[in-house]
Amino acid sequence: MMDFRVGFGYDSHRFAPDRPLVIGGIVIPYELGLAAHSDGDVLIHAVCDALLGAAGLKDIGTYFPDNDPAWKNVDSTKLLTKVVELVSEKGWKINNLDCTLILEKPKMKPHIDAIVNKLSELLGVESDRVAVKAKTNEKMGFTGAGEGIAAVAAVSLVR
Ligand code: MG
Repeated sequence: MMDFRVGFGYDSHRFAPDRPLVIGGIVIPYELGLAAHSDGDVLIHAVCDALLGAAGLKDIGTYFPDNDPAWKNVDSTKLLTKVVELVSEKGWKINNLDCTLILEKPKMKPHIDAIVNKLSELLGVESDRVAVKAKTNEKMGFTGAGEGIAAVAAVSLVR
């Protein structure tokens, strides 16, 4: 009998000067980055929480606490690789990932394919199992005001 799970993740980070903007493991040319203990990769953090949640594991902060110097400015793709290992140790195979970025700027369209390819590589799945969208928040709320970026992610797992 096939076992099937769905997981959901959310993250947000505030814009900050003098930091690279890293989204989905790709450096995006922009005048601001995201404030964080890690590299601030808001999309990868949402994906990690979706995977962990689907596998019945704890949240990203449990495995990579933001007061641990080991994770200072860490490349979040390393965190995702570790999360994929944890999920696969429980016998789960990633079926698909669907995620959305919410931001006013920068325009993400030119970078979506690169992000999809990076995420599919990190997850070890074909690129047609990964979808990445970006939308504005119609100038409403913190994302609409350009204070930061939010990301949501849904994954399904099978075993
Ligand atoms: Mg985060």
